[in-house]
Amino acid sequence: MSATVRPNHVSAIDLDAGPGLMEATISGTNAVRAGVMFDGTRQHGPSTVLIHEGRIIGVETGRFEPPHDVPVLDFGADAFLMPGLIDAHTHLVFDASATSTAAVTGDYDRPALLDRMRATAASVLRAGITTVRDLGDRDYVTLQLRAEFAERPERGPHLLTAGPPLTTHGGHCYFLGGEATGDDLAGAIRERYERGCDVVKIMASGGQMTQGSSLEQNQYSAAELATAVETAHRLGMPVAAHAHGVQSIRNAVVTGVDFIEHCSFLRDGKVVADADLLDAIAAAPTVVSGTFGFSRLPEGKPGLLALLDDMRAAFAELARRDARVVVGTDGGVSPIKPHNVLPYAVADDLRQIGFTPEQALAVVTSRAADALGLGWNKGRISEGADADLLVVSGSPLADPARLRDVRAVFRSGIRVR
Ligand SMILES: [Zn+2]
Repeated sequence: MSATVRPNHVSAIDLDAGPGLMEATISGTNAVRAGVMFDGTRQHGPSTVLIHEGRIIGVETGRFEPPHDVPVLDFGADAFLMPGLIDAHTHLVFDASATSTAAVTGDYDRPALLDRMRATAASVLRAGITTVRDLGDRDYVTLQLRAEFAERPERGPHLLTAGPPLTTHGGHCYFLGGEATGDDLAGAIRERYERGCDVVKIMASGGQMTQGSSLEQNQYSAAELATAVETAHRLGMPVAAHAHGVQSIRNAVVTGVDFIEHCSFLRDGKVVADADLLDAIAAAPTVVSGTFGFSRLPEGKPGLLALLDDMRAAFAELARRDARVVVGTDGGVSPIKPHNVLPYAVADDLRQIGFTPEQALAVVTSRAADALGLGWNKGRISEGADADLLVVSGSPLADPARLRDVRAVFRSGIRVR
């Protein structure tokens, strides 16, 4: 306990009535208590977390009574307190409909788009997802949201953003406006740096959402990828490469790409994860961002389900080799990929891949924070970390579906649900 403890003036408000519109702030010190706590790495018994000005200033396990003037919000013996979840790959500009890209293709209404994105971000936060990396917008709209949520954290998750993804002319997601190849790549990356983007997203292979684009085909040469990585690193920015095809994954590893998104190991319509490529990924500092989490499985598409099983098997091999695996849901791209789908990945994918219950929760909290360069203040319940917290009913270590039984969410110490 530090000497900074002051009585609380405005207590937390339950906001079940509306998404993300809370005007209250918390001053003074508050305590949150639950029967079980997962600190981002391991489980503890009854615990009390002290929050002051948006940060965690103390974590006490076992019997602990804070000073009498500190209000304690006790969620009870069956409550499970953990760090807020982190989604490493989402698209707030897409609307998770069957035509999810329509609203940002061609002419679009920017104020209307931003209003929808604000509502989406609020729903993400209320699901307990307190940090999100957006890997592809149009016209840098997510930068505006990032600024708004930095100012008013109760309105949305902590945002990292890539701006428009780099792609080839007419290539995957070209309609987002990020076409650049060859000598134009360096300038395009510099523009993202000057605008304040957190990460460079590049479409190394083709993708599903763009007509005429093939998942297995490289969009960029290894030399172009190397230029992108070199330029971005000189500016202090990491590179996330969208890579479905085996060859694009290999190029990403060889050129020192920081994040391989999807990493589907596709070749000739199958998942082909050779041991030498798996070894190379595990030996590299590269983080692999698996596209997991489905609100329901793709019905009537046995081929797709079989592919998904094979991808889980490939990720099991990566996990066995201690590769750095995180989850990026690709939230927003289709109806089975709503933006708040991340909890499903823990229940349906990470456990099947072979992560232990504690590892699976770490993948979407502390490990994700470390991978995204946020390990010092996100993904952990520890002194000095941001008070981004999730409280659920029952233990998701025993039953991962519990992760969707949200009882409370705090963002920078402000209760938003
Ligand atoms: Zn994506």
